[in-house]
Amino acid sequence: MKPSGCEIVIVGGGVIGLSTAYFLAKEGAAVTLLDKGELGQEASWAGAGIIPPGNFAAAKSPFHRLRGLSVSLFPKLSEELREWVGIDNGYRRSGGLELLAAGVNSAEAEWRSDGIRAERLSESELRRLEPELSPRLGAAMHLPDMAQLRNPWHLRALIAACAACKVRLLSQCPMHDFVVEGGRIRGLNTFQGRIDGDRFLLAGGAWTDALLRSLDCHIGVEPVRGQIVLLRTDKPLFCRVLLSGPRYLVPREDGRVLVGSTEEHAGFDKRTTASAIRDLIDLACQIVPALTNAAVEKCWSGLRPGSPDGLPFLGRVPGWQNLFVAAGHFRSGIQLSPGTALVMKEILLDQPLSLDITPFQLDRT
Ligand SMILES: Cc1cc2nc3c(=O)[nH]c(=O)nc-3n(C[C@H](O)[C@H](O)[C@H](O)COP(=O)(O)OP(=O)(O)OC[C@H]3O[C@@H](n4cnc5c(N)ncnc54)[C@H](O)[C@@H]3O)c2cc1C
Repeated sequence: MKPSGCEIVIVGGGVIGLSTAYFLAKEGAAVTLLDKGELGQEASWAGAGIIPPGNFAAAKSPFHRLRGLSVSLFPKLSEELREWVGIDNGYRRSGGLELLAAGVNSAEAEWRSDGIRAERLSESELRRLEPELSPRLGAAMHLPDMAQLRNPWHLRALIAACAACKVRLLSQCPMHDFVVEGGRIRGLNTFQGRIDGDRFLLAGGAWTDALLRSLDCHIGVEPVRGQIVLLRTDKPLFCRVLLSGPRYLVPREDGRVLVGSTEEHAGFDKRTTASAIRDLIDLACQIVPALTNAAVEKCWSGLRPGSPDGLPFLGRVPGWQNLFVAAGHFRSGIQLSPGTALVMKEILLDQPLSLDITPFQLDRT
């Protein structure tokens, strides 16, 4: 049930703000969403779109439960977006391979105990599955349920779906501070004037601490830069996502390969750097030697919203009845977005929660 006459204002048009706006508006809530720039152009655009497998029922940790919930929602959400606004978000269960020689020895038992299909492959089995991989990679873990999506397509679909559900979408509308009256947030002061509402959600990604500053509130969300190189070959050389520690190669069906990513504390500087791009290209060519001949199509970086303990912040801002945050998803904001949107919708509409959010609360430390 929605609280009657409830106007919800969301700050931030990344995957978290847009997904939440869509889930709310589908249930008839009146939603305004504003962004300081164009919608969906920051971390959510820059990401690689890897969606690791999850299992809500078997997951042991809060992070894996949120992932499990999200992963269970992706197929239906993707189909709904395709049917409703005619945009394919590129969601595909392409499978993934975790290269174990890279020193990250993720145990088969660990995946399995979280209820996830995982199979250890020998070097020769790996080459049989993906013949273009270097013969010197050692063993790997095969994760057949790993999926991926095309971030820009997903964002385009979410924006169209929000518009179709009558979400008021405001781009080029930076929020400056809050209008506080009688101990409650009444509105936001923005570049386009004052925007009033009943409940407010901050989904400002790496900028979320700045949004809270005028209330003297600090949660510790920080920008962590990630750089990516996009390579292009005439035809696909491999079809599964390849994970090598914190780095990865994501093959698209059209022959493009995303190679990522760095983890850098460089403030809000979004430059790409020669050394990071060189390292990423070296890694790609070591893993798939035929990529040596690939065209370099583009390089970019994005600012992930890092949090002090790696978990996102989901819930009410302490001391404020009608102010909420959904931010700090770090390297996992795409994969966690449907689950985040579902629980934030439930919180904002006073509905029973699909997930215990205690581990994600803002005052957890
Ligand atoms: C290189 C890279 C690779 C990644 N790969 C993956 C991956 O494979 N899988 C995965 O799950 N995740 C991945 N991520 C992480 C994921 O992209 C992020 O966790 C996610 O996009 C965060 O979404 P968000 O909506 O919180 O932030 P953002 O997308 O950054 O959106 C926040 C929005 O708030 C707006 N905003 C800020 N301040 C204001 C203001 N004052 N007024 C109005 N609007 C404001 C910004 O303009 C922005 O549009 C990757 C990230 C990067 C950078």
